[in-house]
Amino acid sequence: MSKKIIVVGANQTGLAFAYLASKRGFEVTVYEAKEKSEVSYDWTDDMEESAFEDAGLPFPPENLYTRKRCWTFIAPKKEKNVFVEIPADKLDLSIYRRPFNDWLLTLAENAGAVVRYSTKVRRAVAKDNRIIGVELESGDFVSAGLVADCGGVNSAVRRSLPESMKIQKNVAPSDTFFVRRAFFDRPDGTARPEFTNKAYLKHLGEAGISWCILSHDEKQADVLIGRVGNMSDAVYGNALDDIRRDNAIVGRELMKGGQLLQIPVRRPLSRFVANGYAAVGDSACMTIPMLGSGMASGMKAAKILADTLSDSDCDVFDIANLYRYQAEFMKQTGGKHAAVDMMKNWLLNSRDGEVDFLLNKGVVSKKILIDASAGRMVEMSVPEMAVAAVKGFAKLPLLLQLAGLLAKMKKECRVASNMPKTFDEKAFDDWSAAYEKPFKK
Ligand SMILES: Cc1cc2nc3c(=O)[nH]c(=O)nc-3n(C[C@H](O)[C@H](O)[C@H](O)COP(=O)(O)OP(=O)(O)OC[C@H]3O[C@@H](n4cnc5c(N)ncnc54)[C@H](O)[C@@H]3O)c2cc1C
Repeated sequence: MSKKIIVVGANQTGLAFAYLASKRGFEVTVYEAKEKSEVSYDWTDDMEESAFEDAGLPFPPENLYTRKRCWTFIAPKKEKNVFVEIPADKLDLSIYRRPFNDWLLTLAENAGAVVRYSTKVRRAVAKDNRIIGVELESGDFVSAGLVADCGGVNSAVRRSLPESMKIQKNVAPSDTFFVRRAFFDRPDGTARPEFTNKAYLKHLGEAGISWCILSHDEKQADVLIGRVGNMSDAVYGNALDDIRRDNAIVGRELMKGGQLLQIPVRRPLSRFVANGYAAVGDSACMTIPMLGSGMASGMKAAKILADTLSDSDCDVFDIANLYRYQAEFMKQTGGKHAAVDMMKNWLLNSRDGEVDFLLNKGVVSKKILIDASAGRMVEMSVPEMAVAAVKGFAKLPLLLQLAGLLAKMKKECRVASNMPKTFDEKAFDDWSAAYEKPFKK
């Protein structure tokens, strides 16, 4: 059985995995559809500092990041700015995406990986219920023992898998954010805002979020508008007008960004491994469902997969072995994401005024906001419940709903984190059904 590995996609997840697998002695080739200069984004994105150690990566050099500033959350009716202060040494890193990718690429190539840009993979090639390689757009077939699919939320490779592998091909639009992130000039003479990083929850009462951030160099306004399911130009334009009315720093000149992008915001797929195939990162929906951050969990998954492959008893890349990768990811991270997904859905479906009440009264504490945005399990101790009960007494039924939600989240986290210990087809199916059950409409 070949131990050659093909990686589809050379954004963060693909490059991190290529490095980690090459370092463990595997022969790795990465195929990336885009030209090198077009991969990733021309801006910074945020990640917890611990992500590097968790993923077994060296810490990036100082010129690749700056520190994120604290968020201020704003509920739909905009009655209050809820500033969430975080100690300076606990603030996330804001990573300069393209230079960061260059750094990951150097690590991967120095470890022996070969990266081919402008080379699109058309589909996975299957034989006897096993993925045996890929077909490139050129028509060439390349064989491999494992195809690591880091091709993102709409991966063509995942979509081409045989039905018999039982991996979900398409991610429902309602499980994704359609977002535009655009940087505008900051008009001369505009005052520095009191709150530099404003996040609008259910902005304008719509299903999604928007943000307005003063860029690190303080010369631009970084505006993100994201809506679940779809986002028409009219919805975007209307939201942008509203952000402009609230934030004098948003000028008229588009400096960069602005393209429509899609981010998965759901729990990980219920199955992301098959004989000769493993999905990693956004292609397996590993982003944090609340905000769509996925760099840290994609890198962490990359390490778990590389470790699984190099286990002494992993002689063949078949589902029985790759299953251990999925089970470990679900244990470490996926279970918590499933719980956060429930909370996100609850918030999106909440009635007019409820998010305002919960946020403004402090029923949803700053700790909950931080935990949910970071993809951690949201729990409330008995004293925290008591405080919430006092603050939320005026809307007791809503409070009871929230308590019920937290109980369901805990249960889902337990189910999701505890896959059967070893691979068994029927047990895997039963676990998948139990895992997905709370999300069935
Ligand atoms: C506006 C925006 C803001 C974000 N902010 C944050 C943030 O603050 N923090 C954070 O952690 N995450 C953030 N994310 C999410 C983050 O971008 C991803 O989770 C992260 O980049 C990991 O993605 P990935 O490498 O798994 O997949 P992707 O980023 O989707 O990369 C997939 C790669 O595969 C390539 N590819 C696809 N199909 C093929 C094919 N058939 N053949 C060859 N190559 C192919 C693509 O060209 C692409 O380069 C944000 C995303 C967006 C859009």
